[in-house]
Amino acid sequence: MKFAHDQQRVLVTGGAGFLGSHLCDRLVEAGHDVLCLDNFYTGSKANVEGLLGHPRFELMRHDVTFPLYVEVDRIFNLACPASPIHYQQDPVQTTKTSVHGAINMLGLAKRVRARILQASTSEVYGDPEIHPQVEGYWGRVNPIGIRSCYDEGKRCAETLFFDYWRQHQLEIKVMRIFNTYGPRMHPNDGRVVSNFIVQALQGDPLTIYGDGSQTRSFCYVDDLIEGMLRLMETPAEFTGPINIGNPAEYTMLQLAETVLRLVGGNSKIIFQPLPSDDPRQRQPDISLAKTHLDWEPTVSLDDGLQETIAYFRHRLRA
Ligand code: NAD
Ligand code: UDP
Ligand code: UDP
Repeated sequence: MKFAHDQQRVLVTGGAGFLGSHLCDRLVEAGHDVLCLDNFYTGSKANVEGLLGHPRFELMRHDVTFPLYVEVDRIFNLACPASPIHYQQDPVQTTKTSVHGAINMLGLAKRVRARILQASTSEVYGDPEIHPQVEGYWGRVNPIGIRSCYDEGKRCAETLFFDYWRQHQLEIKVMRIFNTYGPRMHPNDGRVVSNFIVQALQGDPLTIYGDGSQTRSFCYVDDLIEGMLRLMETPAEFTGPINIGNPAEYTMLQLAETVLRLVGGNSKIIFQPLPSDDPRQRQPDISLAKTHLDWEPTVSLDDGLQETIAYFRHRLRA
């Protein structure tokens, strides 16, 4: 991975979370000075354990809804609970984290003239009417439902990014992340991949919500972080929004069967009610990423799941 400058001072908000910790690993490895900021709402020190004590790594407890005065060259803004059970636990705080967090990080970027990347989401498309989703699609989002704190918070953050770009000429990068999985997902965060793997490893039934015909497209974390690093170093005029995800699409029933095949054991599949506003189908169109980042995913679902299963197997034993 080449960077425009030799060494950067990089701020990663939400750096002790699932994606953030993998990003910190890559940045430190590439020789950058990393300031990892987190309020440990869903993240943990254990995720960055391997970096603690490294001379180029610093961990700071801070909530992005409060102002932050530091000197950096790059900001990756990842702070926000990402799984439905976590972001719905304190929905007001979720919106504040996305909106006030974006304002503070954009204010910081403006003062120090740092380049700033927003971890946005495929959820800005809501329950989509077009398939696969392209960046030009404006989405179909319920503004008053139980997912709205997350979806609308992220949409508003995108608005703020583009207004700071237009009004203050900030260098922004807006990345729309599709479902991503891998080691360091929280075992209880309720996302489908971690749920199915933990259930299968413990011999519990796999819980499919609805009839299991809804689809998602799952990207392995290493592929995702590679796309994120490439996006940050695109030419200044490239803002996104840009989809990053794996277009290989599966029904939840197929995912459950794949996890069962890879884990073994004799867990059953059971069906539970579908939560409200659950999107029917989701698949990224990644043409833009192929063109602008020369990026596409390289890890198959089977290979990525094997790595993730190994991680959970180890974690559940510890
Ligand atoms: P995660 O929950 O593991 O990480 C989020 C991190 O942000 C956690 O460490 C948490 O403690 C921290 N955080 C939350 N609120 C904060 C606050 N107010 N101040 C400081 N830190 C705060 O989730 P993740 O999967 O690593 O997601 C990272 C980012 O990527 C999120 O912004 C999420 O919306 C986005 N994203 C993730 C996915 C995915 O599939 N994993 C998909 C789309 C978008
Ligand atoms: N901010 C921050 N760190 C900085 C600069 C600004 O956290 O280094 C916060 C500041 O508290 C403000 C927000 O970012 O609320 C937006 O800053 P901006 O300069 O855009 O707006 P203003 O300060 O004029 O409201
Ligand atoms: N899901 C499921 N069983 C679970 C957890 C989730 O069938 O134990 C379904 C969920 O209803 C959704 C899909 O899997 O249709 C993906 O859910 P997740 O929370 O991982 O991501 P998101 O809905 O935010 O894309």
